[in-house]
Amino acid sequence: MQRVLNIKTTKYLSKKVKVCGWVNSIRSHGKIIFIDLRDRSGLVQIVFAPNLELKIYELAQKLRPEWVIEVKGVVQKRPKGMENPKIKTGEIEIQAESLKVFSKAKTLPFPIDTLGYEINEEVRMKYRYLDLRRERMRKNLEVRQKVIQFMRDFLQKEGFIEVETPILTKSTPEGARDFIVPSRLQPGKFFALPQSPQQYKQLLQVAGIEKYFQIARAFRDEDPRADRQAEHTQLDIEMSFVSQEEILDLVEKLYISLVKKLFPEKKITKVPFLRMTYQEAMEKHKTDKPDLRKNKKDPNELAFCFITDFPMFEWKKGEKRWGAMHHPFTKPQTENISEIKKHPERILAYQYDFALNGYEIGGGSLRTTDLEILTAVFEVLGYKKSEIKKQFKHYFEAFSYGVPPHGGIAPGIDRFLAILLNEPNIREVIAFPKTGDNRDPMMDVPAEVTEEQLKELHIKIVKPKKK
Ligand code: ASP
Repeated sequence: MQRVLNIKTTKYLSKKVKVCGWVNSIRSHGKIIFIDLRDRSGLVQIVFAPNLELKIYELAQKLRPEWVIEVKGVVQKRPKGMENPKIKTGEIEIQAESLKVFSKAKTLPFPIDTLGYEINEEVRMKYRYLDLRRERMRKNLEVRQKVIQFMRDFLQKEGFIEVETPILTKSTPEGARDFIVPSRLQPGKFFALPQSPQQYKQLLQVAGIEKYFQIARAFRDEDPRADRQAEHTQLDIEMSFVSQEEILDLVEKLYISLVKKLFPEKKITKVPFLRMTYQEAMEKHKTDKPDLRKNKKDPNELAFCFITDFPMFEWKKGEKRWGAMHHPFTKPQTENISEIKKHPERILAYQYDFALNGYEIGGGSLRTTDLEILTAVFEVLGYKKSEIKKQFKHYFEAFSYGVPPHGGIAPGIDRFLAILLNEPNIREVIAFPKTGDNRDPMMDVPAEVTEEQLKELHIKIVKPKKK
């Protein structure tokens, strides 16, 4: 007999079904035992009557919350007045005929029938697999999947192809610290986890892909910040032969149609999205991610905007050097090399950010394909010519074989979802997030590795001195 999802049982009136799931709650009325059975589709009520075979009835008496069971029984209309409009199967119940217990369950460390915000987050994360049984969390994962699927379908229709790029790769300067991975086969050498697929997606343009996207993971070893994750997911896009306007138009079309289809209850403040320069934003709003909602208390208002024409460089006070405002591959708005070198502070870039309700939800740029300009940019950033050649040899070489003009953008997915779902934190929209200080209390990582593993990697740990 095939298992029927709880939600579908209503279609089997007077017929026998097999349902499986977790015991959500138990109530007894006299000798009758009522169970709410939960599966991924929702709840259904099961009735164990005392006239059942004794063995089955006795087993039913032993059931406890969160046991995993299978029940076979006949779907019946509930008696008049006993319907439960709060659940989708509230008109029916299943008169049990058999019961199988797959697995018993200890008492859960916290309730899962609440929203969960009231529970200590460390505990929620330690038992994330239980926390995800919560309806709110399951819904968040479902919405996440729908959003990603929409993006994939939309871009495929626009002629893009999704290409996976490596996780074990080389350090790329995107402004954060790299996570590094030691190589066992080449002692003393390391991979870096990608801060973004930036170089690969550009190399894919040299390869003639022209329209690339990827639901990509990006890794950044940043200092603990409350609402940041060391790994985040972005919709990574790169295109050849496009203008800045065309990139922004594509993103605008994608987000408008996404909101319309998946979040019809949301209202976009202004269509087309407001576009303003960095200078305007700073003068008018004192931030490059202004919150342009008309009514900031309205949870269903979405004010998207694009900020353009960022400065190419920013002065890093602490380090007393110039840094790239976006990343070094961004195209300056001038081709005058001596101006770039002499007056980095004056140079604007073909760089844009995508903002929503006061948050930056993405950024991108047109890229420099002129190798002399790229070298000048690296020099301003403090690289020696010999270092540039060594670190970006592949990039310079690739660009010498015919490179199309290209550009892209990478909207983040976690923050966007948190805003859409009115969640206070991006951890609420990620299945297995890390804590603010980058730990996973469930897996208990980061963790030590064995002496043998270290030996194989030719690594010696110098223990930090106790403070
Ligand atoms: N790689 C950039 C980032 O992750 C986005 C881009 O320039 O396309 O922010």
